[in-house]
Amino acid sequence: SSTASATASAEEYVQRVYSEVTRRDPLEQEFHQAVKEILECLVPVLARHPQYQANAVLERLVEPERTISFRVPWTDDAGAVRVNRGYRVQFNSAIGPYKGGLRFHPSVYSGIIKFLGFEQIFKNALTGLPIGGGKGGSDFDPKGKSDREVMAFTQSFMTELYRHIGQDTDIPAGDIGVGAREIGYMFGQYKRIHGGHEAGVLTGKGLLYGGSLARKEATGYGLVYFVQEMLAAQCQNFEGQTVVVSGSGNVSIYAIEKLQQLGALVVACSDSGGYIYDPQGINLDTVKRLKEQERARISEYVTAHPHAEYTEGSTGIWTIPCRIALPCATQNELDEDAARALVSGGVIAVGEGANMPSTLPAINYFLQQGILFAPAKAANAGGVAVSGLEMSQNGMRLSWSFEEVDERLRMIMKNIYRSSVRAAEEYDMPGNLVAGSNIAGFLKVADAMLAQGVV
Ligand code: GLU
Repeated sequence: SSTASATASAEEYVQRVYSEVTRRDPLEQEFHQAVKEILECLVPVLARHPQYQANAVLERLVEPERTISFRVPWTDDAGAVRVNRGYRVQFNSAIGPYKGGLRFHPSVYSGIIKFLGFEQIFKNALTGLPIGGGKGGSDFDPKGKSDREVMAFTQSFMTELYRHIGQDTDIPAGDIGVGAREIGYMFGQYKRIHGGHEAGVLTGKGLLYGGSLARKEATGYGLVYFVQEMLAAQCQNFEGQTVVVSGSGNVSIYAIEKLQQLGALVVACSDSGGYIYDPQGINLDTVKRLKEQERARISEYVTAHPHAEYTEGSTGIWTIPCRIALPCATQNELDEDAARALVSGGVIAVGEGANMPSTLPAINYFLQQGILFAPAKAANAGGVAVSGLEMSQNGMRLSWSFEEVDERLRMIMKNIYRSSVRAAEEYDMPGNLVAGSNIAGFLKVADAMLAQGVV
């Protein structure tokens, strides 16, 4: 039939684009993974709408509009000169200026920044705000560095980055290793070099100089709001549910805070060294003190709460029986074995707070088992959504109350949920939010690209 041949031709198109991606940059494994997940979901869309293939939309989407890589020299406390590599990938500006965080972590290389930037395109489109996709960062490791070293590094980083960004061109924010302190130092350096207070050039700023209330909470809260919608559709809620949250950074902390407000029992969280299990419920004040103030290891939690257990290694966290699991640490932290352990432990819902925390086999296993699965692009979009609201407030030179921003965040997460559900139904994959969010995000970007011609 004609639909079968359209599907075959769409599959062939997707395969060809994917092969070209792996041929061009054979070592960028994480980028290949992100591209593969999206392209496979798009087959029915491409089969139904030939204009995307006819206009080489996929070929254009997988190639960043611009990639910047630069030297970042700085001096450590011993007086030695050190050099790191900085990146900014300006991936797609079809629906607005490039927008996405900066990640400072030793694992950073082009494959990480490209996968993050690629996902950001669709995530940002899903928020309904006019923001394109980008990402940046460095292989600099903030762990164990003094405040002065972090300042020296971030100032040097911005000394190159400033010429590529601006409130109407590219607006960076935080990600792993980049929080309010780093954004503050970078904002100060940008202002000094650029000359003039351009508040909207970075988001995640401190509240005293243009930051938005609820930005800090936004990714974690938004994740919980999204999962709440998913549960509500099954007549379920968080009340009394046992939840495991990996990580203990900005996303985890505020996911835990909202979960506890909604009556959930959060029994575990982790860092790159290991995880803590506290059957009485994680004491969030302790986690905040350790992670936000002391920059300490999560293992120290047991000093304050001796009844809790610390286990080294972070993947064991998925063997803890729970009803809901929220991976909020980093990419590929949850593989197929972990997915099987969660399902044996009685999990009913999984929500991704980190970017691409589940491997492809893990996602497929969850979907096969009928687990409610909230993919990162949709579920963690609350952070960048409130970044978009921060830009709006900067543009208007005013600031909204916490309640106002939180209410807008709630509405945005609800809309993302609804448009993902709708797109999944429209393409005969009801309940598959991976497909639904990829399709909904793609359609907005692809149609904007078509309207703007061959660019
Ligand atoms: N790094 C966050 C993300 O992955 C936030 C980006 C932003 O606020 O621009 O969405």
